[in-house]
Amino acid sequence: MARVYNFSAGPSMLPESVLRRAAAEMLDYEGSGQSVMEMSHRSKTYDAIIKSCEALLREVMEIPDNYKVLFLQGGASSQFAMVPMNLMTGSGKADFVITGQWATKAYKEAARYGEAKAVASSKDETFSYIPKLDPATFTPDADYFHICMNNTIYGTLFHELPQTGNVPLVADVSSCILSEPIDVSRFGVLYAGAQKNMAPAGLTVVIIREDLIGKAMEITPTMFNYQTHADNDSMFNTPPCYSIYMCKLVLEWIKNEIGGLQNMKKINEKKAALLYDFLDRSKVFRGTVVKEDRSLMNVPFVTGDEELDARFVKEAAAAGFVNLKGHRSVGGMRASIYNAMPIEGVEKLVAFMEEFEKTV
Ligand SMILES: *Cc1c(COP(=O)(O)O)cnc(C)c1O
Repeated sequence: MARVYNFSAGPSMLPESVLRRAAAEMLDYEGSGQSVMEMSHRSKTYDAIIKSCEALLREVMEIPDNYKVLFLQGGASSQFAMVPMNLMTGSGKADFVITGQWATKAYKEAARYGEAKAVASSKDETFSYIPKLDPATFTPDADYFHICMNNTIYGTLFHELPQTGNVPLVADVSSCILSEPIDVSRFGVLYAGAQKNMAPAGLTVVIIREDLIGKAMEITPTMFNYQTHADNDSMFNTPPCYSIYMCKLVLEWIKNEIGGLQNMKKINEKKAALLYDFLDRSKVFRGTVVKEDRSLMNVPFVTGDEELDARFVKEAAAAGFVNLKGHRSVGGMRASIYNAMPIEGVEKLVAFMEEFEKTV
């Protein structure tokens, strides 16, 4: 069996050892005589899985005790509504930095529930940079300040967080969670669709400071109220059981095989440097993002010639490097090199690009 190197922006690769473990446990999970997919979410066996997943996430991310971890569904996209419904209830105002499509969606959805203000945008240059922020332009009594920390489509990352004072910082971390340590105490809410760096699709993780729970708008559907899920340990209804189990295996991999998020970061920096260094010296390919804002996870690049881009994507796929086509709004290519992409995958991709360059 030949496994490909999958550079998809999401869903994306999972660590091979995690897939092997899941395969080994598929028919009979720890002597229960059943698959995790089949068991009651109210069973003792499953309760141990979800509790262990939460404990591991708290340990690996060093989540402070005054934060709740919620395992939800609906994707990061549901959080675009859930965040304002739960938080936009003081002044009814919130600030947004427009750094790409996901940030724009969060902003537009919030504008349906309150007064959403775009404090800065990088739309003028196809979101190829993170705009400089001036705290004097922030809304002092905003209920929250929203950023998309890693911009999956455009390949930019907030390397520095905005200084929002007492205004809770809310971040969409779908494509950078677990890629490096982050100081959770700087945030009011962190949310992520799990399918980039945590688990298969179907699970959405929310990490929320406890004092921000319990203020939802009257109209908020029960399932969209953070309180509902916080009060019921993410078991108000059937949680995405199997994705949570896979998330637990991925967290065990980060803890035991990688050695934690500091090591994860070092590996990710090494992988990203291999690719960016090549792009910087290449005569055919170039990165599309300003150097200081480059993402560790998503690396967009172009040749400047659409036909050549298409030829590259096709030949790369035939050689086992799949899903390298860029997002339609940027064109060209994008290599998503999430945690599970091994260093060899990036080394081999760079070697392939070097060979391709000789044919141009
Ligand atoms: C993928 C992605 C989303 C969308 O997530 P869904 O789980 O599909 O709703 C939102 N924000 C970011 C930053 C993403 O990378």
